[in-house]
Amino acid sequence: MAIKTGSLGQALSHKSTSLSNEILAAILNSAEDLITGQGWLDKVNVLLEELGKVTSVSRVWIFQTLDLQDDYILQDYVFEWAAAEKYVQIKQSRFNYFKSMLKEPEYSELVESRKRGEYQQVLPKLLPESWLKSHLESQQVLSMLTIPIIVENRWWGTLGLDDCEREYDWSLNEITLLKTASYFISSAVVRDNFRAKKHQLDILKQNMACSSWEFDRRRGYLWCSSEVLSSSSEVVRNQHFTPREWMKRIHPAYRKQFLKDAREYFRSQGRTLRCDLKIMKNDGSYCWIDISANLSTDSTLLDSSIAGICWDISERKQQEQQLLLQATTDPLTGLMNRRKMESQLQILMYDNAQRQQNFSLAVLDIDHFKLVNDRHGHSVGDQVLQHFAKVCHQSLRKQDYFARVGGEEFVVLLPNTGQDDADSICQRICETIRSTPFANEQGAIQYSVSIGFTTLSDASLNAQQMIDAADRALYQAKQTGRAKVVSSQALEL
Ligand code: GH3
Ligand code: MG
Ligand code: MG
Repeated sequence: MAIKTGSLGQALSHKSTSLSNEILAAILNSAEDLITGQGWLDKVNVLLEELGKVTSVSRVWIFQTLDLQDDYILQDYVFEWAAAEKYVQIKQSRFNYFKSMLKEPEYSELVESRKRGEYQQVLPKLLPESWLKSHLESQQVLSMLTIPIIVENRWWGTLGLDDCEREYDWSLNEITLLKTASYFISSAVVRDNFRAKKHQLDILKQNMACSSWEFDRRRGYLWCSSEVLSSSSEVVRNQHFTPREWMKRIHPAYRKQFLKDAREYFRSQGRTLRCDLKIMKNDGSYCWIDISANLSTDSTLLDSSIAGICWDISERKQQEQQLLLQATTDPLTGLMNRRKMESQLQILMYDNAQRQQNFSLAVLDIDHFKLVNDRHGHSVGDQVLQHFAKVCHQSLRKQDYFARVGGEEFVVLLPNTGQDDADSICQRICETIRSTPFANEQGAIQYSVSIGFTTLSDASLNAQQMIDAADRALYQAKQTGRAKVVSSQALEL
């Protein structure tokens, strides 16, 4: 038979020959380096050389299968040991990165057989006239043994031994030992793939300052590599957290939201979770991280695990918060601006409707402020506005909201406050402003404020109607002498 193929299931002879022993010794010599060594390239070359020398073949080689389609195969000649210069083929361009069409049935069968992990013993002399025969004869091969290298259940490449001097008939023992050599090569490939992936991840991490993490549901803990949590000078290591320890790392203000997001994610069986989290670093300071999580469905894991990466976004968060602050704050007084007041008013009115509580709103306008500017200048006018904001703020309660909504116009939102309480708070403000003049080196500036307020006792008014009602009361206060408080309800009487 020209091609002998087999899967090595047959019973082996226990009679070891001296060649078998030598092959075994060659494999054992390289095995440790292939499994535990660093650069796998030279170790594979050492193994091929040892195998070649003990078996006295002309050439030992490894082809890597780069791409395999129905109609073609792309291979690369990646390793070779040759007994003499005349047998060297690795430098020939026809073997490098070469594509073969799978038209010949013999060659297709060979490929299928290799995919199944079977060895092939070929004696070209006995082959019928074919592409394979002429191919091997052009290389002066008298006998060839090939053994597929299987990596993670896939045909990764082929280990081959060419004899250009003899028509050698390999024994099953010898083939079994050479198959063992292919396992060691396979383990070195797996290690190399792993190292390449880790290297890619390291590059990613270096460029993004990110950490990888995984929650192991079965063991009930989470590990996270320390890039984000530790200072940059520390050595990267994996830190382990129980769920409780991890929750403690989250800033208290964001724990509830995180739990909600996580629960929703598990419930929805979603693939990807993204959330921002304020988290405590190893030195006790807080940073903002963006976490992405994926449900891993790796079939080798007993339970599904959740894993992902997280990266430091403190700088971006700071910019966002700065922008948010600018968008909602009045720069002169530090009070909330009209936009923020209006959105807060909507929230309070909604809450109020739910809880059926009283709610009051006051509009405050400094009296004759134009005169302050005219007499003392615009910049002193600004200081008076700051003084007003400060003094007024001291007269308010913790639950109240205070906003500057125009030049010298302010609004106070008084949640859970009925008409009488609102009236006394407004009177207190009016009185305090009148009795607390603004003072600078030039002397004191006495000024006053007029206030109109309205109280919502049922849900009959909307936000704009409340403001309008308070404005009408303010107008009345201005019309009737200023430095006073008028309630919109009093107008209706
Ligand atoms: P009234 O008692 O009727 O409210 O009189 P008023 O002078 O306070 O009211 P008016 O609306 O006529 O004038 C408001 C003045 O507030 C005019 C404007 O120059 C001044 N003003 C508005 N914004 C600022 C500001 O940011 N800084 C300063 N210094 N003045 C401002
Ligand atoms: Mg005004
Ligand atoms: Mg005014």
